[in-house]
Amino acid sequence: MMFYSRYTQLGAEFAVPAKPDTFEQAKLLLMNSELNNDVGLAWDSEETLGYLSGQHVLSSGKSVALAYSGHQFGHFNPLLGDGRAHLLASFTGRDDKAYDIQLKGSGATSFSRGGDGLCALGPAVREFIMSQAMKSLGVPTTQCLAVLTTGQSVYRQGHLPGALVARIAHSHIRVGSFQLLALRQDSDAMRQLMELAIADAFEEIVAQGEERVFAFFDRVCQAQCVLILKWLQVGFIHGVMNTDNTLVNGETIDYGPCAMMERFSFSRVYSSIDSQGRYAFGQQPNIASWNCARLAESLLLLCENEEHAVERFSHSLVAFSETFNVGYRELWRKKLGLLDWHEEDQGLINELLELMTTHQLDYTNTFAALTASKMETFQTQYPQSDVLAAWVRKWSQRTKQYTSEAMLECMVAVNPALIPRNELVEEIIQEFYEKGESPQLNGWLTALKTPYEYQHYPLKWLTSQSNTAHYQTFCGT
Ligand code: AMP
Ligand code: MG
Repeated sequence: MMFYSRYTQLGAEFAVPAKPDTFEQAKLLLMNSELNNDVGLAWDSEETLGYLSGQHVLSSGKSVALAYSGHQFGHFNPLLGDGRAHLLASFTGRDDKAYDIQLKGSGATSFSRGGDGLCALGPAVREFIMSQAMKSLGVPTTQCLAVLTTGQSVYRQGHLPGALVARIAHSHIRVGSFQLLALRQDSDAMRQLMELAIADAFEEIVAQGEERVFAFFDRVCQAQCVLILKWLQVGFIHGVMNTDNTLVNGETIDYGPCAMMERFSFSRVYSSIDSQGRYAFGQQPNIASWNCARLAESLLLLCENEEHAVERFSHSLVAFSETFNVGYRELWRKKLGLLDWHEEDQGLINELLELMTTHQLDYTNTFAALTASKMETFQTQYPQSDVLAAWVRKWSQRTKQYTSEAMLECMVAVNPALIPRNELVEEIIQEFYEKGESPQLNGWLTALKTPYEYQHYPLKWLTSQSNTAHYQTFCGT
């Protein structure tokens, strides 16, 4: 395997040379063997441990911390950057696509701003579980190759075992990366960054000159749109959709305060710091569009005629909402197994969502129950709430011309039977803290690989155990 560095061409202010700490006592805790093979790394556990603990250096030898700006909860921060991450190298995977390997929790960098550059075990385990589950749910995402315990302790609310995550991503180019170069008025670097991003995710763009910039922006908008529709489909709440946590290629990154929505509400928030609900479940499309607008502002640096450029970028933002609106309607149509669309279906959908909100119904299980009602088995596993009885009669009336088989085919593609439930993630994290292992993790992760398969699962995997309205997640932990 050949490794290379693709960000150093943007200059040492963008990709700052930075060595990860060496963790002599590190141990390999979790490994995603499938990913290891799929991307063609095929590292054995010794190589994995050596490269990821900083004891061995990859042949490219040029690890960096990337600089970026970012709007955090709407406020612009001119310089964020990787404060606890090291991008070790890039490589071409078995699928001929480029990938980055990045460590998170691997020590302080010049961007640490008083932070320790470290990561506690819990958030590392969370990223491992969530990113794998999201991948299997069909959501574009960065992935987690491995989690190592570092053998050092990390101080948060108290002392916790330290860990690091090795992340594999098609790229680490964020909206915030463009914002930084715009701030520096560095159009050469921005053009190079855009070319890297195009090579990574939008190779089909052939236009040149300014048209290339417009085409790039348009693709980014569409990729964000696809991503958000997927999040909505599975009930994912990212929790910290700052522009520095938004990859232009449309993959999910930064699993810090994320959660799966259990009780349905468009205003559902789990993150402790999102007191205004800026990143609530139903806000995510607006925020994605807002983040795209910040990218457009940055890309103006590459445009001669500002007025014309603004017009073109605005056009792409309108296209974002049009694509979103179509995709959104399609999403609910499919979730309800409607094989064609009638005008009055919107009312049926709205009525269901209102009932779910009022009665705080579980998002996944409500749709799993509708899906299971078209099967011969599993109705007992996903009992339909009584409060929906009248609505279900309307739904049955509306769909009576369809066969169960056809409806089922439509519904199982979008209604997961299994999601990574928040409290089970927390319970597993606690097991790792208390015992250093989690006997239940492997079985669950295996099941989470096929989340759209309706099978007999342990009840615990299907329900939230207690009052998840009070479930809270935390940033930067
Ligand atoms: P995040 O909310 O994880 O996207 O982080 C926002 C910024 O804070 C990024 O620049 C991170 O690199 C930085 N950061 C988060 N946690 C730490 C830490 N423990 N030490 C240093 N920097 C951190
Ligand atoms: Mg981040």
